[in-house]
Formats: sequence, structure tokens, C-alpha cells
Amino acid sequence: MSNSDFGLIGLAVMGQNLVLNVESRGFKVSVYNRTTSIMEEFVSAHPDKQLVGESTLEGFVQSLAKPRKIMIMVKAGGPVDAVIESLIPLLDKDDIIIDGGNSLYTDTERRDAWCSKEGLRFIGAGVSGGEEGARKGPSIMPGGPASTWEVMKPIFESISAKVDGVPCVTHIGPGGAGHFVKMVHNGIEYGDMQLICEAYNIFKAAGFSNEELADIFAEWNAGDLESFLIEITANIFKQKDPETGKDIVDLIVDKAGQKGTGRWTVMESVEQAVPFSTIAGSVEARIISSMRGQRKNASGILQGPDNWGFELSGMSKEDLVSKVRNALYASKIVSYAQGLDLIAKVGREKNWSLDLGAIARIWRGGCIIRAKFLNRITEAFEADADLTNLMLAPFFTEILNSGQKDWREVVALAATNGIPVPSFGGSLSYYDAYRAERLPANLLQAQRDFFGAHTYERIDKPEGEFFHTEDWPELI
Ligand code: NAP
Repeated sequence: MSNSDFGLIGLAVMGQNLVLNVESRGFKVSVYNRTTSIMEEFVSAHPDKQLVGESTLEGFVQSLAKPRKIMIMVKAGGPVDAVIESLIPLLDKDDIIIDGGNSLYTDTERRDAWCSKEGLRFIGAGVSGGEEGARKGPSIMPGGPASTWEVMKPIFESISAKVDGVPCVTHIGPGGAGHFVKMVHNGIEYGDMQLICEAYNIFKAAGFSNEELADIFAEWNAGDLESFLIEITANIFKQKDPETGKDIVDLIVDKAGQKGTGRWTVMESVEQAVPFSTIAGSVEARIISSMRGQRKNASGILQGPDNWGFELSGMSKEDLVSKVRNALYASKIVSYAQGLDLIAKVGREKNWSLDLGAIARIWRGGCIIRAKFLNRITEAFEADADLTNLMLAPFFTEILNSGQKDWREVVALAATNGIPVPSFGGSLSYYDAYRAERLPANLLQAQRDFFGAHTYERIDKPEGEFFHTEDWPELI
């Protein structure tokens, strides 16, 4: 009996679906899971597949053709280290370990160094697309040595999603580059979802029905905003609850969950001093949504407009839809500008030689943020690989310039009517700050100099010369 081409450890939802995907491309796959019964149930549920179930790690390793290609799909964090630790004594030089989970990229860098010290090759690969992506074709973001990528390329390219025949996988860069890009991808996903939710909240406040919302999102999905998330949103509004016959969306508690990758991305943006208002707003929105008890209590204490909701005085429904669409589109551009800025900055610092156009290209299929819009991002970086900010690519500049008036109206409308729009508003503030020739940081520098002698530069003196005022007026 021939040895397996590929091995996978961790048969939860992602692992099982990835195994079925790899097997369906003609590869023989060995599988192992810490809890043996799960492995046994999985293998016996697929008797017609080329699967080899192993109940011991030793048997699993022995069942694989060399160099062994082993993907770990277990809970991120300690479990990944535990699995690597048990694998190391069983493996031979040049065997390949691939961590396909949502690992923190700094952990990936540590594991990469650890494995290479043991003579093993390591790939940290972000896999996006959830259960369905894993089964039918995910977007894969592998990081590690280029030579190891070449070994894995045939398998990764065959299992990944394809858009226009192009696989949604590319070698991102060395070390932790793959997991880093996957982390920012998840942050961008948070941003995209929140922007849709803010649009929804404004429409609800204006009295739109769920049927109308389904039509609006379906119509948006037929245009430039075409994306998986807009499409599923349209469908969500059509779903009835079988028990009550009501719209399911109205029955779902307004408390958002999160697993942490969005928060990691925001923490990284702070660490790297990259403005990140859209995604930071989306992470905060999830956090504040989860404070449901406090919100309920405060709703009876803190005042806002008299009633929730507003009349469309002087504006047609079509007008509002068009303005909110433009606000969403502009905010989305800002979100990607910020996310890509973070990727570019860390890439430069780490010497990863990241290709932002190629990264946007592999997000076009398989993953949650897949969207028509990503083609435009790829084109922008193909036209100018050193683009300082996505907002300055002519295609996006045009959308921002033509949509900014509507964007302001929507943010103002939301503020007037007590509708929180952290990501619409945060994006607009970033846009305005980024294009501002002068910001109030002169006063801030004066404050810093006043209390801490931090010094300041002057507009009437050469840049780089610093001054301190000795005699700020005394406090009385
Ligand atoms: P998960 O719930 O994150 O992890 C469950 C798996 O980890 C099980 O196979 C479990 O084995 C194993 N495991 C936990 N602790 C272990 C340990 N100490 N030693 C060995 N195995 C251990 O599974 P998942 O949702 O399929 O996700 C897998 C990875 O993909 C995660 O990093 C996740 O963040 C990432 N991811 C998930 C999604 C998604 O939509 N779910 C999407 C993209 C990426 P037992 O059966 O023995 O408990």
C-alpha cells in the first residue's frame, strides 16, 4: 500500500473539510486527531475516500510519503506547540509542518525558528473561508521559505479557490508573513461586516422593512460593491424563523462575538503607529455590543434624540440608499487603505518583500472578504507598486472625491439621530485628517512643551530644529 501524500492533524470543522478538499484533488490523506473517536467517525463516514485514519501519532507519521507534509489544524495557541513538540522526535530532516490555523504571526516566527533548528521545514499558512471555503476552495496565505513553498505549491494550488482560473494562493513571504497577512485580512473582514451593519442600522432607523433591505443589498451586490458579505446580507433579510414565522434577523440578540484576530490586528496597528480607525471602530463596536446589560441600563439614563428613528424629511428613500451606498463604499476604501498600510509597513520592517497587488488578488475568491472591488486594488498596485496610500490611486480617489459629500451627510444624519457609526465616522475622520494640510497638533505640541518640556518645531524655522518655551504663563 502506497504512503499518503498529505497528513492532517486536528479533525474539527476546518480540518475535516480541508481533508475532503485535498482528497478530492486526487491526493491520499492520512488523518489524526487527539480524540481518536472523532477520527474514527470521520473516516468511517467517508468509506469511498482515499483516507488513512491513524490512532497514534507514530502510525500517522509512518503512513506518510517523504518528505512528509503535515498540516496542523488545531486550536490556535498552546495546542499548536504541543502538537509540534510531539511530532519533532518522530520526523526526519526536511519534513514539512504546516500550521493552517489562525496563529499569531509572532508565534509562527518562533515556531519557524524552532523547527528549522530541528532540521524541519515550517509553513505558517492562513486559511480563510470558514467551513465552506475549506471544503470547496479557500484563500490560502502561506508564509515560510520560498523553497518549501515550491514543494507545497501543487497541493495548495489545487485545493485553493480559483478566480478566472487563477488560484487564490501565493507565497506571501518568509517566516510569519502568511499568518500576519491572514490576521490583517481578518481585521478587514471585521471592518467590512461593521460597515454593512452601520448601513443597516441607518436604514432601520429610517423605517425600511427587511424586504426592502434584502432588495437594497441584492441591488448593491449587482454593482461595484459585489461581495460575499453583501450577498449573504441580502439573503439574511429573507430568512424566516421556522418557529415563529418572523424574520430571523429581528430575533437574533444584538451581542457580537469575536475570537481575537480583529483585536490582534488593532493591537498591531497601535504597535506599528498605523492609523486604523475603521477596523478599530469595528472591534469596539463588537465589544460595546457585548455590554448589553450596561447598554440597557444606560438607555434609561443617558439622553439622545427623543425617539429612535427618523423621518426622511425632504429626502426620498432612493436618495438615502444612494448616499448610504456612497458612504459605505468610501469607508470601505479607507478600511482597505489602512489594512494595506499596516501590511506594507510591517512588510518593509521585516524585509518580507510583500506584493500588495498579489495579496489582494488571492482574496478575490475563497475567503469571507471576497469582492469584485479587490480587482481594482490589484490593478492599483500593478500600476504603482510603491503606492503610498490606496486612497491616492486614481480609481479610488475618484470614488472618494465624488462620494465625500454623501458620506458627510450620512455621518451627520447618524449623529443627529443618535445612531452610532464608529466605522463610517472613523473612516471619514481619517480621510479628513489624511487630506488636511493643517491639523491642531500645533496646540498639542504646545501642551506637551508646557507640561513636559517636550519641545516643538516652528513653521517659520527649518524642519528638524526644536524649540522650547521657558516662560509659559504660570498657573494661578
Ligand atoms: P478548533 O475548535 O479551533 O480546534 C479544535 C481541534 O483542535 C480539535 O481537533 C481538537 O482535538 C484539537 N486540539 C485542541 N487542543 C489540542 C491539543 N492540546 N492537542 C492536540 N489537539 C488539540 O477547530 P476549527 O474551528 O476547525 O479551527 C482550526 C484552526 O483553524 C483554528 O486555529 C481556527 O482559528 C482556524 N480557523 C477556523 C475557521 C472556522 O471557521 N472555524 C476559519 C479559519 C481558520 P480534540 O478533538 O481532541 O479536542
